[in-house]
Amino acid sequence: MAAYADIIIDISAPTLDRSFQYEVPKELQDRAEIGAPVLVPFANAKAPRRGYIVGLSDELKVAPEKLKPIADIPEKDITIEDSMVALAYRIKRRYGGSLYDALRTVIPSRQKIASVPKRKIRRVMTADALTELLTETPRSQTAKARLYSALIETEEIPYELVTGKLKITKAALDRAEEAGILAVIEQDEADNEPGEGLTVTLNDEQVHAADTISAGFGTSGVYVLHGITGSGKTEVYLSVIEKTLATGKQVIVLIPEIALTYQTVLRFYRCFGDRVAFVHSKMPAGERYRIRERAKEGKISIMIGPRSALFTPFPNLGMIIVDEEHENSYRSELTPRYHAVDVAVERARMCGATVVLGSATPSLETFYHCEQGDYTLLTLSKRAKDGAMLPRSEIVDLREELKAKNFSVISRRLRTAIEERLEKHEQVMLFLNRRGYAGFVSCRSCGYIAQCPHCDISLTYHNDGTLRCHYCGHKVPYQKKCPECGSQYFLPFGKSGTQKIEELVEKEFPKARVLRMDADTTKAADDYEAILSEFAEGKGDILIGTQMIVKGHDFPNVTLVGALAADLSLGVADYACAERTFDLLAQAAGRAGRDKIPGEVIIQTYRPDHYAITAAAASDYRSFYDTEIRYRRSFGYPPVRHMLTIVGGHRRENTLEKAMDELAVKAREIAEQGGATVIGPATPQLQKKNDMYFRVIYVKCNDIESLIAVKDAAEAWMHAARGGVGLTFDMD
Ligand code: ADP
Ligand code: ZN
Ligand code: ZN
Repeated sequence: MAAYADIIIDISAPTLDRSFQYEVPKELQDRAEIGAPVLVPFANAKAPRRGYIVGLSDELKVAPEKLKPIADIPEKDITIEDSMVALAYRIKRRYGGSLYDALRTVIPSRQKIASVPKRKIRRVMTADALTELLTETPRSQTAKARLYSALIETEEIPYELVTGKLKITKAALDRAEEAGILAVIEQDEADNEPGEGLTVTLNDEQVHAADTISAGFGTSGVYVLHGITGSGKTEVYLSVIEKTLATGKQVIVLIPEIALTYQTVLRFYRCFGDRVAFVHSKMPAGERYRIRERAKEGKISIMIGPRSALFTPFPNLGMIIVDEEHENSYRSELTPRYHAVDVAVERARMCGATVVLGSATPSLETFYHCEQGDYTLLTLSKRAKDGAMLPRSEIVDLREELKAKNFSVISRRLRTAIEERLEKHEQVMLFLNRRGYAGFVSCRSCGYIAQCPHCDISLTYHNDGTLRCHYCGHKVPYQKKCPECGSQYFLPFGKSGTQKIEELVEKEFPKARVLRMDADTTKAADDYEAILSEFAEGKGDILIGTQMIVKGHDFPNVTLVGALAADLSLGVADYACAERTFDLLAQAAGRAGRDKIPGEVIIQTYRPDHYAITAAAASDYRSFYDTEIRYRRSFGYPPVRHMLTIVGGHRRENTLEKAMDELAVKAREIAEQGGATVIGPATPQLQKKNDMYFRVIYVKCNDIESLIAVKDAAEAWMHAARGGVGLTFDMD
């Protein structure tokens, strides 16, 4: 029972963008909960103002004479919307931005919604007859083929799933209905289908994981399910969801947009029937709003979706599952730049729900929490299906290619492997681990990458002939001679694009059908899935792309995956570049040879001994983690210390520089009291965009509260300053 409450007042007024502490009178203590709406005296107003409790504590933070008691906590249940306000406040506090921004993230604006009946699609033709029709359907009519295959497999499919994920138009459905293939059925909310329930018998490791998780129900426990692709994580989710539903509570399942495929969603539908709903980012706002309302009314119990589904207003939330929890798409790029994994843990704590974080390559932060004893680690160590084998990985040393005068991006070993696959009519994926802007300098003879001696991150080549650190501003002249081995091949790593590689591959393998997937070929919303389904249908022998091709897709006929230049992601000027590299290569390995044919992964690199590469090739997460965490510890990077990134932007470089210098001085003053370190200001990798200049300051500290203090001071400074420098914040 807390003596004091933090309260936000009148959430519509942007000027009162902070909380105030009030005393909780004895007689109201039972009702003082986070999210509770309250009435409080405020300033000189005669009538009490309405507010929300967003925090409770026993520590007095204001001068005692200024402390006022809460006037009333109206006796009524805290609605789910009330507690979402409290969650919004917590997000704002940690990640910056205004309360208004945070509220808009958590509670989307009201939408006009048409009342649409709940519908499903039922196959009325026999599966055999439809199979025959499918064989007669021309390959070019892929939408039709998709619909037929889906209906052959499953007799009844929710309407939204067919129109949304399968992208079948209403007209096409009408035609199929007329042809006597299917029927569109309107459904009463009351006669919901329960689903088939669990269909596989879990193995020992899966049983242990599911039992441990359910034993902790009600304690806000966080469980990390670490298992390679195909080890049966999804089956464990299904099992613990079933147990949660049995207690009368609801479940949120977060899946990265890119992995949110028709098959994945259908698996949940099959198991739980009409209690499942899903959202995705291309869904119209009105439809998303309608699903939200149904969740609030208790008409659905399981919500599947990307990051934003975390804010589903379930009144009695029992569990949040985050699949592929290491994925970057869980970090929002809009203010507030929140991290869905951390917010999931926060939301679960507020309502006593359980969190399950699943991944083949947990983020360093998540695994660190396991090591610290905050989270419980559960491991699935083998593939669940009989006969499913792990692919073989091989590292090709590109320095040897140079010595052998092979200047192609394709090594001799990879070329032979591709030829073999083409011969056998198996498929190949080739990818570039490109992320953000390259521009680092590396030696093609020995693999050395120029690094900042203070920060141990890659230096970036600038056109004025210097190499610079984007963290601390350290600067050295660029020389063409490698400081390690003296070779003349010490060069900036060019932006060798996927298009150039496509041309080259077409030249080297003139008979192969080559598909390319990157930002250029996927401009329209549907391009992305169109290319993937073309490849899945066997219309291409080789798929070339950026890392987007290795994430979450199953191509049973792909038996070779080639990483063309693993160094590209190793050279990114970011303390987490080794982690990204390891993730990508390990994910790529998970893609090859999913079924009976064993797959092969070939990793081309100038740094064959780098721990991220050797550990990924050996599928050894543990050895990667141990080495990486030592590096993070010695340089004080997250997760060992917290790090706040402050990016300032302005149209005039001079104004910006002056302001950021001033801010750095100010940050140092505050930071020193809390034991934090301030680095910079420095020029970030993206130094100018749309005529805006940018500078960056990093603050590192063991204690996140000190960083929040620095952030708050910086925000206050920004509001007060007349220079008009815009600041954005990034926590960890
Ligand atoms: P993950 O989510 O870890 O990638 P899945 O749950 O998708 O793994 O499982 C991979 C495949 O193995 C699926 O086809 C699934 O049906 C099957 N599978 C999972 N667990 C079992 C089990 N205990 N017995 C038989 N098959 C299983
Ligand atoms: Zn060298
Ligand atoms: Zn540096």
